[in-house]
Amino acid sequence: MKNDFTFCPSCGSKNIQNVRMRKWLCADCGFDLYNNVASAVGLLIQTADGKILLEKRAKEPRKGFLAFPGGFVDPDETLEEACVRECREEIGVEPVSLSYIASFPNTYEYKNIQYKTCDVFFEAKLPENAKLHAQEGEVLGFEEVFVRNEKELSGVPLAFDSARKTLGLWLKNKREN
Ligand SMILES: [Zn+2]
Repeated sequence: MKNDFTFCPSCGSKNIQNVRMRKWLCADCGFDLYNNVASAVGLLIQTADGKILLEKRAKEPRKGFLAFPGGFVDPDETLEEACVRECREEIGVEPVSLSYIASFPNTYEYKNIQYKTCDVFFEAKLPENAKLHAQEGEVLGFEEVFVRNEKELSGVPLAFDSARKTLGLWLKNKREN
């Protein structure tokens, strides 16, 4: 991973340094750039027969692994709007209700840059008889898996640990309620 610049994007000097994981500073012109934590959303959707709807990722990072529908929040967008938009884009259906589950930090590595995210997870429902349509280039297909206990959870090839933690918490909440 190389979160680094060879030259300052402002003055072209080579004296730009990655002073902290998310901050760059040019010693010559004072150019100061923050790569702040990005918000991302994920949707835990249960199918009618109680399985969890997951997408097979078509792209790196973690190509071929399974993930919740979701993605990065756009500028000027709420988390809820991002949930609806990402769901519409990736599975071709808008969720009908959203309820907050939890958030977990995550690391997303894309083309040799490391992005730190805060992933926010919602439970969501789909309208009855919704017809799923996988977004070309993003989603290879869908998998519906039972996650009824920790053992089943450990067998799911999830792309990101934040989704695994969310399903673990969701199971725990279900047991306690
Ligand atoms: Zn500079």
